[in-house]
Amino acid sequence: MPASSHYHAGMEAWIDSHCHLDFPELDAGRETMVQQARADGMSHLLIPGVAVAHFARQQAVARQYGFHCAYGLHPWHAHEKDDLTRLEDWLQQPECVAVGECGLDKLRGPPLERQIPLLEAQLELARQRALPVVLHGVKAHEALLRLLRRQPLPAGGVIHAFQGSAELARRYLALGLDLGIGAAFTRPHARRWQSVLAGLPGERLLLETDAPALRPAWVTTGPNRPDYLPAIAEALADLRQQPLADLLRQTRQTTLNRFPRLREQHGS
Ligand SMILES: [Zn+2]
Ligand SMILES: [Zn+2]
Repeated sequence: MPASSHYHAGMEAWIDSHCHLDFPELDAGRETMVQQARADGMSHLLIPGVAVAHFARQQAVARQYGFHCAYGLHPWHAHEKDDLTRLEDWLQQPECVAVGECGLDKLRGPPLERQIPLLEAQLELARQRALPVVLHGVKAHEALLRLLRRQPLPAGGVIHAFQGSAELARRYLALGLDLGIGAAFTRPHARRWQSVLAGLPGERLLLETDAPALRPAWVTTGPNRPDYLPAIAEALADLRQQPLADLLRQTRQTTLNRFPRLREQHGS
């Protein structure tokens, strides 16, 4: 199911709101996938940060294509102390539109007790700088919701790769967080998630690939890619019984509202 077969010049523009385009898994195909994605209507792409050691490379890739970045310390990489001071400098770079990704992950990385202070510090940075936050939450939603209630985010944020019950979605939405939706719903065993997703408010959803991770079910080899997003969006529109153009327009608008600095050009 090649994405390009469904799309043509003049189609609705879209944004990949979470793509690790700087990761080495995408080195070989990067140029081709960016070209294809642009030919298929991609207007913006947001590269989330994971660790200070990756930021320079992330910035180089973003500048090469005129894309944007979030800078943050991923819970899997919760280590050195001076990282927070260095993160502060990176948040002032012109391509930076958000803090993240940061969050809590019970399945990977150091124990939650080590992840929590790192997240708290980043939520505080986001508050001070009035930046939105890209959040990663896996099997730690109660702890994450508790922190978000204690440290409200003036510029809001996104729970990326969200997957959960309608009730969990409602609690995040009530705190002003939007939901990033990737290809997890395309898997045949994701029936429950599909039925929740069909009922979520379209104006609170963002589209993302999370490439190179989380490829759609119909792709059996190779990394996930940003140019797979139109086909993922088409599957989502089908699931939600919503016209594709409508879904693309709505999610693009939500993404631009959530990350206002995406609208600003920065030097390439
Ligand atoms: Zn993540
Ligand atoms: Zn990610």
